[in-house]
Amino acid sequence: MLSATSLFLVMMALSVVMLLVLSSQTHSGARGIREWIIANAMAVAAMPLFAARGHISGLLSIELGNALLIGTSVMMYVGFQRHLGRRVPWRALGGFTAATMTAVVTLHYGIDSTPLRIVVVSLLHGGLCMAMCASVRQSLPAAARRYPYWFTICASFAVGIGLFLRAGAYGARVAGLLPQFDVPTLDLVFFACGTLSIPTLTLGAVMMANAEIIARATYAADHDHLTGAPSRRAFFAVAERECAQAWRTPAALSLLLFDVDHFKRINDTHGHAAGDRVLVEIVERTLGILRHRDYCGRLGGEEFAVLLPATSSDTALHVAERLRTALQCTPPIPAERGADRSAAGTIGYTVSIGVATLVPGETIASLLSRADTALYAAKSGGRNRVVAAAAGGYGMERRRA
Ligand code: GH3
Ligand code: MG
Ligand code: MG
Repeated sequence: MLSATSLFLVMMALSVVMLLVLSSQTHSGARGIREWIIANAMAVAAMPLFAARGHISGLLSIELGNALLIGTSVMMYVGFQRHLGRRVPWRALGGFTAATMTAVVTLHYGIDSTPLRIVVVSLLHGGLCMAMCASVRQSLPAAARRYPYWFTICASFAVGIGLFLRAGAYGARVAGLLPQFDVPTLDLVFFACGTLSIPTLTLGAVMMANAEIIARATYAADHDHLTGAPSRRAFFAVAERECAQAWRTPAALSLLLFDVDHFKRINDTHGHAAGDRVLVEIVERTLGILRHRDYCGRLGGEEFAVLLPATSSDTALHVAERLRTALQCTPPIPAERGADRSAAGTIGYTVSIGVATLVPGETIASLLSRADTALYAAKSGGRNRVVAAAAGGYGMERRRA
């Protein structure tokens, strides 16, 4: 037969499982994990105290048990706030917790009323659940990562409503609005639902943490760590998509492939760190002159590629020329950060660009290969120039020196 004691012990066992799951994520770097671990540890400690009610002192089973359970809800909420990068309202939390614990003590040693104690603590737990629900709702991420957020929103809302109903039922009973009922029986119903509350909220928290870990790993794989530009992997994924799109529609797709001229000299003369700054600046400059739809990736070293969707070969040549000029005209950056911009201590640089436009049925690999051949021609032609690959062939049309 189901009893309050067995439900307390089930909740304790579930919280232990959740503790083990959360512990596996301590080194993941996800924010909030520490607070959720503390919350579940408090729940594990609180449950035996509630279960031993009548066998241990009231101070342990009522005051300490409730203090630990309030700590559980507070730390769950703090964990969500931290995870979402939101402010933790410590003063308000401290104030509500102190007021609730004062009420619990008064309703134990003053007017000894279990129903009123249940009203007070249920209101606090319910309020915290609704606060978690609101915080998560206000911090929804991009559509692809929303499932864990909606899970947590629904779980915290359902638990919050359950707790408010519990407070309402006991409040109405105390006020004489409801017929007398057997407190332990009603509590059993609420306990049966409540048993799953902290584990379910923790499950939502773990799912949100996992989503964050995956998002961070995906970002790291898709972006170059130094410049923040899309990585080779991300560039090819987008290029394949744009290529397939270009095949379906008459819109042209052009590609610029550019490489910094004599970059090794920059490294050798000014140091690797200065070379790094040049790469960062190139990406910033390039993004500054491209359209929102264009896509610039770092293919490796000092080689970059720009996809120009819906762009004819003539327009692509103009864009390439604009890019070459803009990079050439970039004010020379100081060789040392914070150093005077004197001619001797500055770094100027130029780029060579190969341009190719997709011909019907052509693959991205072939388009890139043509752009690469054009880039090679730009280099051997003297650098700091744009060369277009002849459509679908390997002849070169030299544009300018
Ligand atoms: P070219 O005009 O023919 O392109 O000559 P280059 O010197 O630019 O070409 P090369 O391929 O000989 O040298 C490229 C250099 O880029 C060598 C490599 O050490 C440097 N490099 C590659 N990645 C990075 C990076 O992330 N940071 C810095 N500072 N240098 C890098
Ligand atoms: Mg180079
Ligand atoms: Mg190179």
